Amino acid sequence: MNCHPTLCGMVVEVYDDRVTRVTGDLDNPDSRGFLCIRGQAAPEILDNPRRLLHPMIRATRGGDWRRATWDEALDTIVARMRAAGREAVATWSGHGIFANNYGTRIHSHLLRRFSNIYGCQWWSPAIICWALGGFGLGLTGLLEPNTKEDMGANAAMIVLWGANLASQPNTARHLAAARRRGARIVTIDVRETEASAQSDETLLIRPGTDAALALGLMHVLVAENLVDRDFVARHTVGFERLAADLPARTPEWAAALTGIASERIVDLARRYANTRPAMIVVGGSSMHKASNGWLAARAIACLPALTGQVGIAGGGLGPRHGASLHGQVLGNIVALDRRPPGEDVPNQMPRITDSLVSGRVRVLLLFGTDMLSSFADANRVAEGLARQDLVVSYDLFENDTARRFADILLPSTSWLEELGCKATNTHVYLMPQVLEAPGETRPVPWVLRALAERLGLEDFFPWKDDRGLVDAMLDVPATRHASVAALAAEGGMRAMNVSHVGHPDLTFPTPSGKLELFSERAVSLGLPGLPVFEAPADSPSHLLTLRQGRTLTAFHSFYDHGRALPTLVNADPEPVLWISPDDAASRRISDGGLIMMRNARGEMRCRARVTAKIPAGTVWMRDGWSGLNTLTSGDAVIPDAAVEALGFSAGQAAFDARVEVAPVG
Ligand code: SF4
Repeated sequence: MNCHPTLCGMVVEVYDDRVTRVTGDLDNPDSRGFLCIRGQAAPEILDNPRRLLHPMIRATRGGDWRRATWDEALDTIVARMRAAGREAVATWSGHGIFANNYGTRIHSHLLRRFSNIYGCQWWSPAIICWALGGFGLGLTGLLEPNTKEDMGANAAMIVLWGANLASQPNTARHLAAARRRGARIVTIDVRETEASAQSDETLLIRPGTDAALALGLMHVLVAENLVDRDFVARHTVGFERLAADLPARTPEWAAALTGIASERIVDLARRYANTRPAMIVVGGSSMHKASNGWLAARAIACLPALTGQVGIAGGGLGPRHGASLHGQVLGNIVALDRRPPGEDVPNQMPRITDSLVSGRVRVLLLFGTDMLSSFADANRVAEGLARQDLVVSYDLFENDTARRFADILLPSTSWLEELGCKATNTHVYLMPQVLEAPGETRPVPWVLRALAERLGLEDFFPWKDDRGLVDAMLDVPATRHASVAALAAEGGMRAMNVSHVGHPDLTFPTPSGKLELFSERAVSLGLPGLPVFEAPADSPSHLLTLRQGRTLTAFHSFYDHGRALPTLVNADPEPVLWISPDDAASRRISDGGLIMMRNARGEMRCRARVTAKIPAGTVWMRDGWSGLNTLTSGDAVIPDAAVEALGFSAGQAAFDARVEVAPVG
């Protein structure tokens, strides 16, 4: 289920066109036989009675579905697209569209190609995922990670900064290997996570104050002369300006903001600077879900720069969701040069929501996504969805968005019923079709080709078949020019030609080509040139700060948020809010009791888990639950002009939420 950059290998046993057993693949170099509860539940997708097997149409939202032919469904979609005009049509895909091509994102690229050639709106799924954190790292210039294998073999200290192993479980094996060698593991998070259990120490931090902690650490590095002066002189710009700003960012200043004692901040800075190599693993998504979340990544990336822990084995930044290694570049099929001129809605979550609400977009084609759960300010998104002329949902199962707003459902094939190809940071894997597609389910390329033919889009699919499409993505130096045929002949997997060390040549994707402690590019985008801490937007201090994150029982909105798979329902039956004993006692909330969480935007009913694993003032819930994002802010975080500045789309909404919580009744 896409724990990029790790992923697990499966051995699927098939008898008489039915899956009889799924086990972890011991020969898979990334997972070595591991398969978490989500992977073990995967067979429940296949013959699931809730599965969509035929195109469905309904006359009114909330009305009854009736079975339709593919021709009727596609003809209706194309007629509505033509009536609205191409610029009022949008495609939006969630991670469901990657389910069988994660790491290669072939179907996402194909959807983008379709949108470019047709000339409709296309929005990047990176905006709900890794990209805003990547934006912060990229302003400093530190985007390429080191691998988990390098971490396990070489790191002497590992700081898991907002990085939880539930999102990339196969990293845990390498973390354990590093620890056996004597590496010290430190976790920084808003609660005690699964990663805390594998760590020597955990620093619990107030949400949204990570940049303050990083600045406090930088203060110590400079004040105690722990900076690698030679590295800084050769490979960074802006040190003097940064150093001039740091005297006020004392450990005491950082302690007052973060809630972490100043002695621990000093100690961490000294140990990080004096342990070589030391690696920081930055969280992929959840830690950046805040109006100032990207500032944390911007500041954290300055720590390896100041200490010269870049471009070395065991140092730099560790495996990060969505990140590509040095040299990890796949084929480009998106046909950007064929995009006709027009008014594009920016890859910026609040602008997208605006376009739905205003009627600028009137036909919405959704692929593998539950927009209501992944977008912030879900009530406003619902307002926009309600105004659409047509909403189409292509998926394996209905989800909240489809149930409430879809007019047409298109049934998807699953991972065993189509050709796919996945990649981790180090290997590329063939995903062969081993089952006949059930009912009238169809893979993404088939659906897009059928739409393109009806729209008269020339040369949309220049390949002979889906194998040709996969080959076009793989025919690059990073895969040593792999192909479907070559991978099949080799047993389905191939090590990629990539560096296990990020930025090994010490060149960086910044205007100066160096690590930028001061960024003129940021200034030109209307952002602070130096790494800074900005407090989250003001709100009443008696409210609790809500944070979201991952667990091993859920991932993305796949399979109706796992509600379609009995194993996951049993493991994680209802939304649960972590709350500290102090906050619970002052609100007369008991462990296991039903509670209502609300703010001015929305409300959500859930159950309390009273636990000392979270500090007072913070509450936490696994992401994706229906209603959770009615509470979160859909405000823009960075200016529209900055969204595409680094070559990827970073237009995530703020997702900030302060809430009050009370017992139901
Ligand atoms: S969900 Fe992640 S950890 Fe679990 S089996 Fe799939 S790839 Fe592996």
